[in-house]
Amino acid sequence: MILFVQKPTEKAENRAAMTPAAAKKLIGLGISIEMPAGTGVKSSYPDQQYIDEGVTISQSPDESLAKADIVYGLELPKAATFKKMKEGAVYLGRVEPFGNAKLIAAAAKAKVRLVSMEMIPRTTLAQKMDILSSQANLAGYQAVITGASRLDKILPMMMTPAGTISPSKVFIIGVGVAGLQAIATAKRLGARVQAFDTRPVVEEQVKSLGAKFVKIDLGETGQTEQGYAKELTEEQLEMQRQGMAKVCADSDIVITTAKLFGRKAPIIVTADMVAAMAAGSVIIDLAAETGGNVEGTKVDEEVVTDNGVKIIGIGKLENELPTHASQMYAANLANFTEHFWDSEKGELVLDPEDEIIQGSLLTDNGEIIHPTFK
Ligand code: NAD
Repeated sequence: MILFVQKPTEKAENRAAMTPAAAKKLIGLGISIEMPAGTGVKSSYPDQQYIDEGVTISQSPDESLAKADIVYGLELPKAATFKKMKEGAVYLGRVEPFGNAKLIAAAAKAKVRLVSMEMIPRTTLAQKMDILSSQANLAGYQAVITGASRLDKILPMMMTPAGTISPSKVFIIGVGVAGLQAIATAKRLGARVQAFDTRPVVEEQVKSLGAKFVKIDLGETGQTEQGYAKELTEEQLEMQRQGMAKVCADSDIVITTAKLFGRKAPIIVTADMVAAMAAGSVIIDLAAETGGNVEGTKVDEEVVTDNGVKIIGIGKLENELPTHASQMYAANLANFTEHFWDSEKGELVLDPEDEIIQGSLLTDNGEIIHPTFK
């Protein structure tokens, strides 16, 4: 069995889909790994570390791709990649399946078995394969670090002979995986932290991290079976904005993480709310790539408003921590592979009755089989 690792080509992408540690685990299963030279260099994994674990540095990536039984990707795949793969081979990686119908159709046409790692069900068993969680966790941490570094103040309280500095106030909107990590990180740095989420179950989690939950009565809200937030009505969103305006105005750092899986993010912080914030305040919008939670966010840019508020909308903050982001991402894919590895047959067996496969396998036998994308 040959596994080929694609090397990211986008200049801004620093991560890799394989690490030496993940390679060691997979080679231990009996899998041969081939990858282009320099695949892990930007995440500080030199080729030699992979070679030491038994990875082959491919002299012809296209040939390696064509003979591979399993392909690991990190950037969105291209239809051309599927065309070059052999029939029945498995592609594992990010697919962003909502809005990428043509890509899914291309995989089906090429008879590639396409696994969307974003669609891994949110169950305890599948947690070790969940790329959304592993990357969001790091992004949540990095949001606070970025916010702190762009703020003209310190986060903790400091009592010095020259006077007392009061702690900075951090407000986190959206308390999923990224938001929880952001709360924990901001607390560790000594900030005064408040948070809000539309899912009522979150209140306890916020309190258990020592932060204050901002209460806004929006009527009926809730979550889907997979734990994702339900979309609010426009009326509810307006109530939310009004409830939050004062908290935003009073905060030094606002971090928004409020996404709606597969859909555009809601605008929660309007231009008026930004205008009411103090000069020097920082907003980190983690939903920037899916439209942004903040009016005026620009992906991968820092916008400074007329009243001196910095709005930072870096698309993938985890990309700034590539060593650990690659470690987590590669581990997610390797855990999937190990979980479905049949050691007697020496191959990946994607059982259509398995809950994880039902959730994440989009194409098989030349057809789109996933009910959501069919
Ligand atoms: P996400 O990235 O889709 O959204 C981030 C947060 O924004 C969510 O908490 C969501 O409720 C919130 N949000 C959406 N609209 C909002 C609004 N208008 N105002 C305020 N907040 C809003 O979510 P996520 O991080 O992927 O996590 C979703 C849930 O899934 C969480 O409960 C998480 O703990 C759970 N989860 C479970 C597992 C597992 O059991 N294996 C794994 C990962 C996540």
